[in-house]
Amino acid sequence: MSGDIQMLMVRCHFYKDGCRWTDQLMTLQAHLESCQYNMVACKECSAMVARNHLKDHLDIDCPRRSETCEYCGSEFTGSKIDTHLGKCQLEVVFCENKCGAKLQRRFINHHMLNECAKRSIPCKYCHKEFVYETLQNHLHQCPRYPVSCPNRCEPKKIPREEMEKHLTEACPSALACCPYKQHGCKHKGPRMSLERHLDESMKSHLTMMCSIVSSQQKTIEHLQGQLDTMSLNTDGQLLWRITDYAEKFSKAKNEEEVELVSPPFFTGRYGYKLQVSIFPSGNGSGEGEHVSVYIRVTNGDFDSLLRWPFTFPISFTLLDQNEDPNKRMHIKESFTPDPTWKNFQRPSKDVHVLGYGYPTFVSHNFLKTRDYIKDDVMFLRVRVDCSNSQSIKIKNDSQSS
Ligand SMILES: [Zn+2]
Ligand SMILES: [Zn+2]
Ligand SMILES: [Zn+2]
Ligand SMILES: [Zn+2]
Ligand SMILES: [Zn+2]
Ligand SMILES: [Zn+2]
Ligand SMILES: [Zn+2]
Repeated sequence: MSGDIQMLMVRCHFYKDGCRWTDQLMTLQAHLESCQYNMVACKECSAMVARNHLKDHLDIDCPRRSETCEYCGSEFTGSKIDTHLGKCQLEVVFCENKCGAKLQRRFINHHMLNECAKRSIPCKYCHKEFVYETLQNHLHQCPRYPVSCPNRCEPKKIPREEMEKHLTEACPSALACCPYKQHGCKHKGPRMSLERHLDESMKSHLTMMCSIVSSQQKTIEHLQGQLDTMSLNTDGQLLWRITDYAEKFSKAKNEEEVELVSPPFFTGRYGYKLQVSIFPSGNGSGEGEHVSVYIRVTNGDFDSLLRWPFTFPISFTLLDQNEDPNKRMHIKESFTPDPTWKNFQRPSKDVHVLGYGYPTFVSHNFLKTRDYIKDDVMFLRVRVDCSNSQSIKIKNDSQSS
């Protein structure tokens, strides 16, 4: 029976791996001893490997195989060669900066630090980092790169970004304008000789300054006039604060006809222009004993549009400055101009119109009885009653009424 079995035809165990061997069972054992697909132990590392892979295994995979480094010629076991290959100093590798250079690993560091066209290097003037091959270009623009002054002055070299300032402010050889240029001096010369020019031209510079001062004076007066007009009263009221009264009074006593003139005031934005006068030592019938007070209609910018003669009631009030308001006793005088009075016709530009008022407004003796002068200050209030306000009406409008 067993003899029959041994006669049976069988396939190799490794049929599925590709072995095409087929024969009687009794020869199978002998076949397996040499079957290329059967597993055998590697004599170096004892790993089980198909017989037909054994050579590859010993050449390529076996960790105990022996390998020679192709660069340095050293011997390694299979498990060590891979790590060596990443470090072998004789291996030729590309530069990590991608400059294209290929060198043995032992030279790479030196190359990357000192020779590589793509190494990074600081500009020695501005200290920013640059790729070596672009540094030359950078130097043409580097703001700190030292350049020579076009005027060839000392000190020889100046950082590029400071040159403009040097030329306009410091370069002793640069042409500079005289500091009086704005005021008319046409001198232009090297900065270093400017001092001499200033010394030599003192007189002409002074003349320039004089004419500027006088033209500025005119401007100031003009502006002052505008300012006065803008800050003036335009409500027909004046509260005139007369300071340093004692000094003004004694001056008036000793000299002839000292007249204090108030700032002008107006009955409206475009109204009549009025001015008040005080003679501290009196004039006319009040001379020597009284304070005289007058008002005058003066030449205003809108006179041609206003109604003439001026006929609005006017009052003068000398204020009592007693601390207790209930005890104050002001001195008040008022009048309404008569249309026939010359003083209140339309004033002409050239004729000085006489004021109208009170030569004996208050006597010097009465002035001392109360607080009309306090802290050397007198207040005179003047009011024009424009409530009957035809005055502001422009002549042409009267047709409609
Ligand atoms: Zn086989
Ligand atoms: Zn092995
Ligand atoms: Zn090596
Ligand atoms: Zn490189
Ligand atoms: Zn730079
Ligand atoms: Zn210079
Ligand atoms: Zn000058």
